[in-house]
Amino acid sequence: MSGTAVGREQSAMKPQPVEEMHILWLTAALGCDGDTISMTAATQPSLEDLVLGGIPGVPKVHFHNPVLAYETGDEFLELWHRAAAGQLAAPFILVVEGSIPNERNKSEGYWAAMGTDPATGQPILTCDWIDRLAPKAWAVVAAGTCATYGGIHAMQDNPTGCMGLPDYLGWDFKSVGGAPIVCVPGCPVQPDNFMETLLYLLWQAAGQAPMISLDEQLRPTWLFPQTLHECCDRAGYYEQADFAQAYGSPKCIVKLGCWGPVVQCNVGKRGWMNGIGGCPNVGGICIGCTMPGYPDKFMPHMDEPPGAKLSSSAIAIYGRTVRALRRFTLASQNKEPEWRGRGKSE
Ligand code: SF4
Ligand code: SF4
Ligand code: SF4
Repeated sequence: MSGTAVGREQSAMKPQPVEEMHILWLTAALGCDGDTISMTAATQPSLEDLVLGGIPGVPKVHFHNPVLAYETGDEFLELWHRAAAGQLAAPFILVVEGSIPNERNKSEGYWAAMGTDPATGQPILTCDWIDRLAPKAWAVVAAGTCATYGGIHAMQDNPTGCMGLPDYLGWDFKSVGGAPIVCVPGCPVQPDNFMETLLYLLWQAAGQAPMISLDEQLRPTWLFPQTLHECCDRAGYYEQADFAQAYGSPKCIVKLGCWGPVVQCNVGKRGWMNGIGGCPNVGGICIGCTMPGYPDKFMPHMDEPPGAKLSSSAIAIYGRTVRALRRFTLASQNKEPEWRGRGKSE
């Protein structure tokens, strides 16, 4: 086969760049809408940047989220029915917020629903929406820890039997665009972590970026490689074994219950809104809200983590010693060299 023929074959196999994309954001699982609210604070990019077409090279975005939509009731749901029937002219990304209940663990009633079926008048279960939409979605994104790994509603013995989207659809689920479920955890999700992931997927759909890279827990690899501790404002205090004994101190708050050394989260570096905030940076202990083991494995929240008792004791002698030595050196460095001054260098 000639080189030209190979090139022609490859371009025939290449997916066509997407020019328009619907984003269907389902908030009807068990949650608090906190991820939707969080996302409105994003700046890298902002929601407005996306929907107003302010970013070059991405498809035109049509955004459908019940908390933010002008339309209500049947008017809002009309597009969702068409998407479920495969009748949209443009592809869509399905975003799921909230924990997915187990609707099979009881004999009557339901845990979560959105809208009613025009034919039967019965509620349409959130699980049914997911079953209808996920197989047709160009990409499926779980926003927040409830949707990614179950979160608060999936605590042990919760009667809803809640779970995250990968547990519901299967960890090997692949969307029409070829990617697994994309998980952006956090309770709520850090706004820019979410919007940056969405932007990446839109670039991918436009043919401008390769397949999104995800880790074993289906998180974007570039967002969750570090522990919070590795990017915390207070890490210098920890290294010197200088621990806060009460809130209101700028020192390391591990003794007050911070789990940062064993939590993958970037808010120490990224902040929360427009670079400002981030739990320990502003005095809040990390309770591990981005993690698959949250919340059960991080409780009770206000106690010193068991592992921290050991590690903070282990560095105590080193920390106290270097702190004393550094104080001594710092006092010396705080003085100008003795040769400076009128008449001293003559
Ligand atoms: Fe609310 Fe947190 Fe669940 Fe998001 S992850 S829906 S913020 S409880
Ligand atoms: Fe680590 Fe938490 Fe201390 Fe920050 S406050 S240095 S994350 S233990
Ligand atoms: Fe959640 Fe801890 Fe990150 Fe705060 S620092 S967002 S509690 S994982």
